Amino acid sequence: MTTLLSVEHLSKVFTLGGGLFKPGRELVALNDISLTVEAGETLAIVGESGCGKTTLGRCIIKAQPVSEGKVFYHPKDGQKVELTELDKRAIKPWRRDIRMIFQDPMSSLNPNMRVFDLVAEPLRVHRICKGRELEDRVISTLGKVGIPADAIGRYPHAFSGGQRQRIGIARALVLDPKLVIADEAVSALDVSIQAQVLNLLDDLKREFGLTYIFISHDLGVVNYIADRVMVMYLGHVVETAPTEQLFERPRHPYSEMLLEALPIADPTRRKGQNKELRGEIPYLGNRPIGCPFHTRCRYAQDKCRAEKPALRPINGTAQMAACHFAETLELKGAYEAPQKVFA
Ligand code: SF4
Repeated sequence: MTTLLSVEHLSKVFTLGGGLFKPGRELVALNDISLTVEAGETLAIVGESGCGKTTLGRCIIKAQPVSEGKVFYHPKDGQKVELTELDKRAIKPWRRDIRMIFQDPMSSLNPNMRVFDLVAEPLRVHRICKGRELEDRVISTLGKVGIPADAIGRYPHAFSGGQRQRIGIARALVLDPKLVIADEAVSALDVSIQAQVLNLLDDLKREFGLTYIFISHDLGVVNYIADRVMVMYLGHVVETAPTEQLFERPRHPYSEMLLEALPIADPTRRKGQNKELRGEIPYLGNRPIGCPFHTRCRYAQDKCRAEKPALRPINGTAQMAACHFAETLELKGAYEAPQKVFA
């Protein structure tokens, strides 16, 4: 396997309020995150809203500065570029390789631009081609995402939500990227349209040898597309595992809780799913001492309220969890769930 992207000890702190003589309040959105993304894989980052997954995506593409830590892009074997130290100009060439797809195509697409110009814009910004070549490239990219050539003169409002997301994907794809970060890319779509867009992303991955970071709050969607899952809670990584392993035997109680909340319509296939998520996410500015999840964890003990568990490999496998009792807890999986979500 070849590493395409690596993140080392990344933290992001926002400071709210404050004044001349009064310090602001610090909100730690990301706490010492390290990860690697291998070329050709789909790594999903999951967690409830506010867990830091979108902030992490934005820090990776440098849409937001990091407070601490480093992000490296590995364009080829043996080459390692530290994105976090590059200025706006120096990072521009690498922005071709790492593209982002956003949740809400209606707000990420300029409503006053025609589809042709929306997809041509990245080519023009990066001065890749012009004239006939640009036209051919735009039309061919739109064709790959299922938007016909005769639609290029239309505006975003003339398309359905699913078609608009396809245009967003074309904008990312037209630069021939290596890594695509999809931030809740199907969350705003109906379930049937979600399946179409996920299939499209999967096809494109194979055709163009893409690598994805797929940010989502929905484990059903994640199971459909991801090779590996990273679960985040309150700005911490609490578990990482190959997708199958996570669904079969989660090692962190938060992962178990997310799996229990998976919506499964067919009662014969349920393994205790459809439950509500327990408790409230603590305010970021008032994070619990010890294990960040202890205020919602049904297995919490005194040790959990005093000592923060480290993220570590479990029983020598590729699964890692940050729970004091990860090796011994018998947590419930939900392996039957996924197919049903998109049936
Ligand atoms: Fe729950 Fe304790 Fe494990 Fe945290 S360390 S997840 S509180 S059992």
